[in-house]
Amino acid sequence: MTSATTAPAGATTSVALAGVTKVYGRGENAVLALDRVSLDVAPGEFVCLVGASGCGKSTLLNLVAGLDQPSGGRIEITDRTGSAPSVRRPSPGLMFQEAALFPWLTVAANIEVPLKLRGLSRDARRQRVAELLDTVRLRDFGRRRPHELSGGMRQRVALARTLALDTPVLLMDEPFGALDAMTRDLLHDELERIWTERRLTVLFVTHNVREAARLADRIVLLSSRPGRIIYQTPVTTPRPRRIDSPEIAAVAAEVTDRLRTEVGRHGQ
Ligand code: ADP
Ligand code: MG
Repeated sequence: MTSATTAPAGATTSVALAGVTKVYGRGENAVLALDRVSLDVAPGEFVCLVGASGCGKSTLLNLVAGLDQPSGGRIEITDRTGSAPSVRRPSPGLMFQEAALFPWLTVAANIEVPLKLRGLSRDARRQRVAELLDTVRLRDFGRRRPHELSGGMRQRVALARTLALDTPVLLMDEPFGALDAMTRDLLHDELERIWTERRLTVLFVTHNVREAARLADRIVLLSSRPGRIIYQTPVTTPRPRRIDSPEIAAVAAEVTDRLRTEVGRHGQ
C-alpha cells in the first residue's frame, strides 16, 4: 500500500489499477501501450506519473477516465463515504494541456456547461459558477471570452470547468506543459490549495520531473513502450514547496537519473 503522508484528511476516493494492459489495433499492427500496470492511488493522494513521450501516460489516464477500455486487468474507483465501500464507475474530471474551451462562450458559460449537464437549476448554476471563479481566482473574468485571456488564465478556466463536475478524482494530462515557468509556478500553488481544500485524489501526468517533485506525494515512473512501472518514490519534502528549492531539485535529480537510464536502455 501507499503512504500518503500529506494527503488531505477526509478524502474518500481511491483509484486502483490491477494488471492493466492496453493494446491498440490488431494482429500485426497491434501496439502494446501498457503492460500489466498496477497502481493504487490512496484517497487524497497526489500521484505524478512521469515517463518519456509515447510511453503510455495519456493512455493510462484515458483508461482511468473511462474514455477507453483496458485490454486486460481492472480499474476500480472506490468511494468510502458510507460505512460500506462502494465500487463505482464515476467519470473523474479530466484536464488536458490545451484548455479546449468553447471559444464562442464566455468564461462563465464555459464553466456552466458541466453544471447544465448535471441538471442544476439556473440559480444553483449561477451561484456555483461564482464560487468556481473565486476558487481559480478569476472573479472578474466571467464575462470574458477565452481569446481575451492568457494561457494561464485559460487553464484556470479549464480547471474550474473540471471542478464543476464535482468529482473527487482529478486526472490531469500535462495541464501546465504549455505555460511559462512563472505562470506554471503560480498554478502549482493554486492546484495544491484546491487539492487540499477539496480533498481530491489526483493523478497528474507530466514529463517534467521537477514539476512532479514539486507537486507529488509519490512519483511513479513509466518505462518506454510498453509502459510498465519501473520506479516509484514518495516525495516527503514538506509543503509548501518551491520548485527551485534544493530538496525538490534532489528528488528531481534522482528521478531524472532513472528516466535517463530507461531512455538510454530503450534507445539501444
Ligand atoms: P504518452 O502520453 O506517454 O506520450 P500515449 O499514451 O499517448 O503516450 O501513447 C502510448 C503509445 O500508444 C504510443 O506509442 C502511441 O503511438 C500509441 N497510441 C496511443 N493512442 C493510440 C491509438 N488510438 N491507436 C494506436 N496507437 C495509439
Ligand atoms: Mg500524452
